[in-house]
Amino acid sequence: AKILVTGANGYVGLWVVRLLLQRGFAVRGAVRTAEKGAALVKLLQYKEGERARAFEYVAVGDIDKDSAFDEAVKGVDAVIHTASPVVMSPEKPSDVIDPAVKGTQGILESILQYGQTVKRVVVTSSVVAVWSDVTAPRTFDENDWNDASVDELKAQGDNASGLLVYCASKVLAERDRLAAWDFFKTHKGDLPADLTTICPSMVIGPVADDPASPSLLTFSMKTWWDGVFGEEQTADSYVANGMSFVDVRDVAEAHVRAIETEEAGGERLLATSDAYVMQDWLDAARELVSTPSGIAKGNPGAGKAVAHLRLYNNEKAMRILKLQFKRLPETCKDTLEDFEQRGWLK
Ligand code: NDP
Repeated sequence: AKILVTGANGYVGLWVVRLLLQRGFAVRGAVRTAEKGAALVKLLQYKEGERARAFEYVAVGDIDKDSAFDEAVKGVDAVIHTASPVVMSPEKPSDVIDPAVKGTQGILESILQYGQTVKRVVVTSSVVAVWSDVTAPRTFDENDWNDASVDELKAQGDNASGLLVYCASKVLAERDRLAAWDFFKTHKGDLPADLTTICPSMVIGPVADDPASPSLLTFSMKTWWDGVFGEEQTADSYVANGMSFVDVRDVAEAHVRAIETEEAGGERLLATSDAYVMQDWLDAARELVSTPSGIAKGNPGAGKAVAHLRLYNNEKAMRILKLQFKRLPETCKDTLEDFEQRGWLK
């Protein structure tokens, strides 16, 4: 079977591509330009050897333009759509909203027109499309929607924070009138495919490509790197902003199983593991590294006392996809080993 993966050079997308190749699938990776495609072919030859023969790329340009995916969807058996801007300081909201929403709508339009062979579409959403602001602890699940972010964005317009814009972009891509779930509702019967959405929390873990330096990591790992190895911040900052993480390899696994598992059709699935504050990663990292000089210290142990407000129920993904999510110490260990091999640790 051949699978189209959009955002194939991204943090999540590239792990999905590599896992698909390891599982024996043929992969068509959609990237912006031919240069990025050629670089990806080289990288995969180096990382995956012979298996890379089953990879081809397609250059699709900016995904907010009409018909971007018309050629890309032809003849594939399933589509995994990870491409979407993960940008927290856009110049204007439409820089994020348009590629997120029109990109999702566009790929579905292309499938409707040219994707008769496509049996399943998997769209990468996010827990930011699930959560909302809470004042008391709450456990969110697949029935929850962050509609408040869309209303807030409407109210704030160009003054909206980058995070708010990003949250709204993921909600709108997953269920705007024209995008993922609603598109399938409207075109029920016309589409040979069905839909699964995967909503990961903060994606952490080893990196699938070879960025020249940590400064070139994409958003979630750059944030993690800066938190662990950046300049020491106040102890308070390391116990603020509690969230949940998921290992990037589990996110890839969830996407691949979503195309392999019949029962995943029509399901929205949270992909998430432990809740954390940065202090938890610092403590785990300092335990693993013999001379942890480059690792911030904060106030060791303080993370354990944090009462998390937003928690997530990951039982549905575990049940349907038969997945066990890696816990924080394992992800921390493997990430540090990966960075060590890159010569990034002091
Ligand atoms: P990356 O920034 O590493 O990858 C994003 C990918 O999307 C890149 O391939 C990028 O191409 C492509 N892309 C973005 N905007 C456009 C555009 N306008 N036109 C064409 N291609 C575009 O992000 P991640 O891998 O971290 O994220 C992948 C998906 O996972 C996204 O949908 C994101 O919302 C979701 N997600 C990520 C989480 C995380 O913590 N990382 C958490 C939850 C969800 P290029 O390299 O050319 O810019």
